[in-house]
Amino acid sequence: MEQVVTYCEIHPDRETGLRCNKCGRLMCADCAVSTPVGYRCKQCVRQHENKFFTAGANDYVIVFAVCAALSAVGGFIASAIGFLLIWIIASVPAGGIVSEAALRATKRRRGRYSGEIGALGVVVGGLLGGMGYVYVTYVQPMLSALQELGPEYTDELARTIGSPWQFLFQQSLSNIGMWIFIAVVAYFVYNRFKLRG
Ligand SMILES: [Zn+2]
Ligand SMILES: [Zn+2]
Repeated sequence: MEQVVTYCEIHPDRETGLRCNKCGRLMCADCAVSTPVGYRCKQCVRQHENKFFTAGANDYVIVFAVCAALSAVGGFIASAIGFLLIWIIASVPAGGIVSEAALRATKRRRGRYSGEIGALGVVVGGLLGGMGYVYVTYVQPMLSALQELGPEYTDELARTIGSPWQFLFQQSLSNIGMWIFIAVVAYFVYNRFKLRG
């Protein structure tokens, strides 16, 4: 008896007997996606995801805004407390709060890129919060003092220890606690939006 040889629908040179368990098309190992309900073709997986992703463009804006605003507040407060340990301890509940708030603000609608956009919001907000604190506590007083002292002091300061703006970036970007905080919160948000259900 002769065996019928079948080929992948996308790659006609590849022999396969595997079929998508939804639409029945033949697919090779590269085209098959392993899902909790069995092997499916990429088209069926994408169709399923599109039903799951219900977010519109304004949901992306909301996710970004909520994540950025809350992370900015968190970054500012943690900067004010200032201990490395505080940043680390605070990052886990902060991640839970920020991701839950973002989900609620969009009535739990997710989009294909909600996770990435939320995480980006956390990075932008966290940085602004950390920088905002350094600005308010050090840079702003520095700038107003220089304004009273006159331009020659500004030049002198810039020559010796750098401008207040350099100080702002150096001081905030060298804060390891802030980076850990941002990374953990961004990770939480990203995963929360990627999870099914
Ligand atoms: Zn299929
Ligand atoms: Zn294939």
